[in-house]
Amino acid sequence: MAQTASTHLRSYSYPDTKLFIDSRWREGAGGDWAQVKNPATGDTIGRVALAAPSDLEASVRAGKSAYETWSRVSAFDRALIMRRAADILRERVSEIAPLITMEQGKPIKEARSEVMFAAEVTDWFADEGRRTYGRAIPARGSDVSAIATMEPLGLIAGFTPWNYPLGQAIRKIAIALAAGCAIVIKVAEETPAAAAAMVQAFIDAGLPASTLQLVFGDPTQVSSHLISHPDVRGISFTGSTVVGRKLTAMAGQHLKRCVMELGGHAPAVVFADADLEAATETLAGDKFHNAGQACISPTRFLIEDAAHERFVERFSARAGAIQIGDGLDPQADMGPLANDRRVSALTALIDDAVAQGARLVTGGPATGKRGYFFHPTVLTDVPVHARIMNEEPFGPVAIINRFSTASEAIAEANRLPFALAAYGWSRDAAQIAFMQRHIRSGMLSINHNGLGLPEVPFGGIHDSGYGDEGGIEALREMMFSRFVSVRSQ
Ligand code: NAD
Repeated sequence: MAQTASTHLRSYSYPDTKLFIDSRWREGAGGDWAQVKNPATGDTIGRVALAAPSDLEASVRAGKSAYETWSRVSAFDRALIMRRAADILRERVSEIAPLITMEQGKPIKEARSEVMFAAEVTDWFADEGRRTYGRAIPARGSDVSAIATMEPLGLIAGFTPWNYPLGQAIRKIAIALAAGCAIVIKVAEETPAAAAAMVQAFIDAGLPASTLQLVFGDPTQVSSHLISHPDVRGISFTGSTVVGRKLTAMAGQHLKRCVMELGGHAPAVVFADADLEAATETLAGDKFHNAGQACISPTRFLIEDAAHERFVERFSARAGAIQIGDGLDPQADMGPLANDRRVSALTALIDDAVAQGARLVTGGPATGKRGYFFHPTVLTDVPVHARIMNEEPFGPVAIINRFSTASEAIAEANRLPFALAAYGWSRDAAQIAFMQRHIRSGMLSINHNGLGLPEVPFGGIHDSGYGDEGGIEALREMMFSRFVSVRSQ
């Protein structure tokens, strides 16, 4: 069943998505399918095949043997194949980007950037995979050679959510492949087709059979099957803290290495001396990108008293000017939320904040519109006990509160158990150093947004999880060090 999503501007077709197991696209053994909806309309646009336990078993069997092959391909040759896949992704940007928009909602220009980002991540890890150096250790005897090497972990199971169908999946795929691992990835059932097109790009680039496999299914069933399987050696999950905790517990039980990229509630501390125009522009861009459905989205804006009113005014004007609409419409600055769960969750959080005394400056649900639209929203003077100050809103809502002293700002920035991304703005070197020293987070960006590039570490601490998905740190997550000592006879 291939369906068409149409706008007043242009029509695109959206395919049904199958599983890619043991080198072929196939339906699930149980014949089960789930529907895929376009969040801009709420209409069903396609279907996704769901794996039965026997399909998952087949994927592990094929993946294990693929690992034996791929881990012996030289890093140089692995890089050539990955580089080819990156080129194919770039060539197919105009085919893949509309799939992302139709299944996830984001504006087509953001979808195109996501495809290009996937290519860039692939290129970067392809190259970095050639630099996974070991070392020779000075031995205690002149007749002993002592060598430590970095080795691929084995077959990896990856789990990715719906907010960046390609962006999330490629971090798991490219890192695993560059390290010499094979991977079975479960992408969110709500956003399957773009990821399938990306997998096809790797196949067309010549990736050996079953090194990369794609599954969908009942999330709990798929994760328990793969995590507990003795032939799966590493787990990499991106999603909510609640699910991450469960998967970590299961991985612990089976002694599996884990990377957990979980929720955030990023503080953005803005001192009155900052370049307010640049701060407003950059932070609003970051906040409303992907309709705020990003784990590193700035959420708790902490503005120094003297600048608070000006900041709220400018930021709200900027938010109010954002055009919401079907992401296929090039005029749309922000698409719908990815699913109806987000609309009800955000509405409840905002209602609660207002009931607790917060002021709603602009925004709220886009009532009377088809699809899952929500206006860019600004809340101010939100009490600390309101739910939205404690739970990740994961949507286009900025909470703009105030502070009087730097210590007060840091205390609020560090109050939550989440510690993923944080942002700071100031022209004063002492304030910058203070933030750098005291804000507790896995990532901190000051006076710009420098997060999320392929070459930089990406990950959180505490309730935001552990492990990295960027930079050389990410490759080490998918490898183990092996030590060999040889004494000559
Ligand atoms: P959810 O927690 O049920 O699902 C989050 C993701 O995890 C989905 O992709 C889902 O398919 C997957 N998942 C759920 N149970 C799983 C399991 N047992 N095994 C493997 N995967 C499983 O909720 P949701 O409504 O989809 O999203 C709600 C919250 O999730 C958001 O508010 C946000 O906090 C978080 N989230 C985070 C990210 C991120 O980038 N860190 C992305 C999407 C969602």
